[in-house]
Amino acid sequence: MTTVVRLEDAQRHVWERVVTLGASALPLADAIGTTLADDVISGEDVPPFPNSSVDGWAVRAADTASAPCDLVVLGEVAAGAVAGMGVTEGGAIKIMTGAPMPAGADAVVMVEDSEPVVGGKVRLLRSVQSGDAVREAGSDVRSGQTVYHAGMVITPAVAGVLASINANNVNVVRRARVAVLSTGDELVDDGSALRPGQIRESNKVMLLQMVRNAGAEAIDFGIVRDDESALEATLRRAADTCDAIITSGGVSMGDYDVVKAVLSRIAEMAWMQIAIRPAKPFAFGLLANSRAEKIPVFGLPGNPVSSLVSFELITRPALRLMMAMPAQRPRVLAIVDEDMRRKPDGKTHWNRVYARFDDDGYVHVAQTGPQGSHQLAATSSANALAMIEDGDGVYAGDRVEVMLLTDWS
Ligand code: AMP
Ligand code: MG
Repeated sequence: MTTVVRLEDAQRHVWERVVTLGASALPLADAIGTTLADDVISGEDVPPFPNSSVDGWAVRAADTASAPCDLVVLGEVAAGAVAGMGVTEGGAIKIMTGAPMPAGADAVVMVEDSEPVVGGKVRLLRSVQSGDAVREAGSDVRSGQTVYHAGMVITPAVAGVLASINANNVNVVRRARVAVLSTGDELVDDGSALRPGQIRESNKVMLLQMVRNAGAEAIDFGIVRDDESALEATLRRAADTCDAIITSGGVSMGDYDVVKAVLSRIAEMAWMQIAIRPAKPFAFGLLANSRAEKIPVFGLPGNPVSSLVSFELITRPALRLMMAMPAQRPRVLAIVDEDMRRKPDGKTHWNRVYARFDDDGYVHVAQTGPQGSHQLAATSSANALAMIEDGDGVYAGDRVEVMLLTDWS
């Protein structure tokens, strides 16, 4: 008999058994969403030279002390150019944002604080201090600085910084290649009319994209019939070509739960009944491939809502650990907008809710519809899971802990 385990124990069991993947060098644009495998030290100053932060007049600050004052226009310098002359006492050079500071100038008066005057001069209406509107060399990143430590996720902004220091190839933790397959004789995905007993397959398209959103590469291994030899062949092929395998269906107590039959025979498995609802049945194990590597296998339940919830609570964090990424979704305490009553059953319920930031400054949640484990339509408009502890549930106005499912992390 399979014993019922607490979610935290199931999570720990799985998360302790996945290992971080190796590193590979990637062009920067392909590396976004992965994790740096090494520290990154800048070989350059950013900006590389002192430059103006505004369009205006490069001056010696001391010359503006008695503003308004008229200075002699000596020339101009645009971004990408270098001034052909320096600023001497009583002179000013017209300068554009990003253009290098001319020799002799130590501040810039913004163009809004000037007006033209006749006779080759400009009138400066405000005085400036030395350094005003000047961006010093290295004021963003210094040459020799450790800009990022290994383990930093390459967000779009991080990629921008890496480009700014000419780190166009980066050593990152490999993206996991994750095989996704569905099991069940009842499943149809070829658009044909449903025969009696058949249903449309829906988990795979969902799980494939959830895998991609987790930062991994998803590989579609199709629908496998409830046939032991077909399933074994597919699992072995997946184990030889992928870093992890996700199956859906066939892990509960039914007579045709072939995933259970096959994996029990060929892999080191833990068959769990987790004290949560939905997503009570869950399986995790390691399947040795032909190179004797142990490939993690996540056996998700077939009910679509259960599949989604067990992916979120256990599988997604495990995939992220394999890629050395932050594993946990953000959690917040939210105000319940309407009662969420339940009966004591020894389980924590993870209700599908819509979380929104309200005018009162708090996050509020409300259920998105019926909570049956086959009712994916109601779940599909949820953006969070609310943790409803065992008991009678919560009332409007109560606080609940909520796991946000938006891809912020
Ligand atoms: P199982 O875990 O195989 O016993 O399946 C549990 C329930 O989920 C059954 O009603 C299945 O028909 C359904 N189911 C299993 N796999 C899928 C799938 N890929 N898409 C939609 N429903 C599924
Ligand atoms: Mg099945």
